[in-house]
Amino acid sequence: MQFAKRLEKIPPYLFAEIDRKRDEMVAKGVDIINMGVGDPDKPTPSPIVQAMHAAIDDASTHNYPPYQGTKDFREAAVKWMEKRFGVKDLNPNTEVVSSIGSKEAIHNTFLAFVEPGDYTLIPDPGYPVYRTSTIFAGGESHAMPLLPEKKFLPDLEAIHPEIAHKAKLLWINYPNNPTGALADLEFFEKLVAYCKQYDILLCHDHAYSEMAYDGYKPPSVLQVPGAKDIAIEFHSLSKSYNMTGWRVGFVVGSSHGIKGLGQVKTNVDSGVFKAIQKAAIAAYSTSEQELQAVMSVYQKRRDIIVQGLQSLGWDIEAPKATLYVWAKVPQGYTSTEFVTLLLDKCGIIVPPGNGYGAAGEGFFRIALTVADERMHEAIKRMQEAGIRYS
Ligand SMILES: *Cc1c(COP(=O)(O)O)cnc(C)c1O
Repeated sequence: MQFAKRLEKIPPYLFAEIDRKRDEMVAKGVDIINMGVGDPDKPTPSPIVQAMHAAIDDASTHNYPPYQGTKDFREAAVKWMEKRFGVKDLNPNTEVVSSIGSKEAIHNTFLAFVEPGDYTLIPDPGYPVYRTSTIFAGGESHAMPLLPEKKFLPDLEAIHPEIAHKAKLLWINYPNNPTGALADLEFFEKLVAYCKQYDILLCHDHAYSEMAYDGYKPPSVLQVPGAKDIAIEFHSLSKSYNMTGWRVGFVVGSSHGIKGLGQVKTNVDSGVFKAIQKAAIAAYSTSEQELQAVMSVYQKRRDIIVQGLQSLGWDIEAPKATLYVWAKVPQGYTSTEFVTLLLDKCGIIVPPGNGYGAAGEGFFRIALTVADERMHEAIKRMQEAGIRYS
């Protein structure tokens, strides 16, 4: 039996080739340091786990959950938006919907708004789902290059107006995966004005909203006055609370955006397990101190990697947010050649920058998801292999 044509159009999974090599080397007994995937290695904070224990013993959580989230969950999300970002007056009935992690909601947003002939404006490098979901919806993606000389922000003036007129969605993600870049409110204002001009739904993937260091607090696009007319924002507990396995988040903003997404969701899924929604409500009352305890682990690792790379000749600054360090490959290598060298010579797994889009060529990404001593070990192996930035 043949696969549907749409599957042929999906690019190969970013980690497929790396996974194959890794398996080969593990079979040979090589001690692999895997800094590939952005999946926190630490447990979920215990108050959240305890809330889950209590919730699962409550039989009222066991039946079908409402697809849009329980009233309590939506109200907690709205309260958190106010407490965290100062965004007021969000309507929990029309401007919020729960998500089974943001990946699902991101995909379903494409199904709700994109049809053949439509364009999507997506960051390059960027989270691969924006591109593949455009393909699933039958649309055309237009890459917005994120370049170091533009601080990894998209250049809106470089988008041809003809493409902008045909675009339905514009995707951004700050703090950014994979570059670690930040965007400020001034930039969000520009984006809101641009999307209003062309009647584009502005989609902000805020997966790293709480993963910030050195006292930095990432803003919400909904802090821009009037943003709610045109923007939706995707929040997820996955990364910030070490909860990737739980699958819970919410989407908030434009009632039109939420309505379209909700219409897809009512037809394809049945919401988040109610016990998990209760645990998520507990997560939203995590104290600043507890959250800082989670973040300090990553901040320390970031410093180990950044200082390590600096000692090997890299001219690199410590990112103020996300789980990633985005670094240039040394001259004379492509991204793929360099990550292959790291794997062959050092047993280190990292993804090549071009796996996130053509503009990622010349970079590689390090995820801060292994213990301190493994990070020190990785730097030591690079040094011993004579790998330097030059
Ligand atoms: C990890 C990640 C997601 C997906 O997170 P889930 O909520 O676990 O589905 C979405 N966007 C970006 C940019 C990510 O890095």
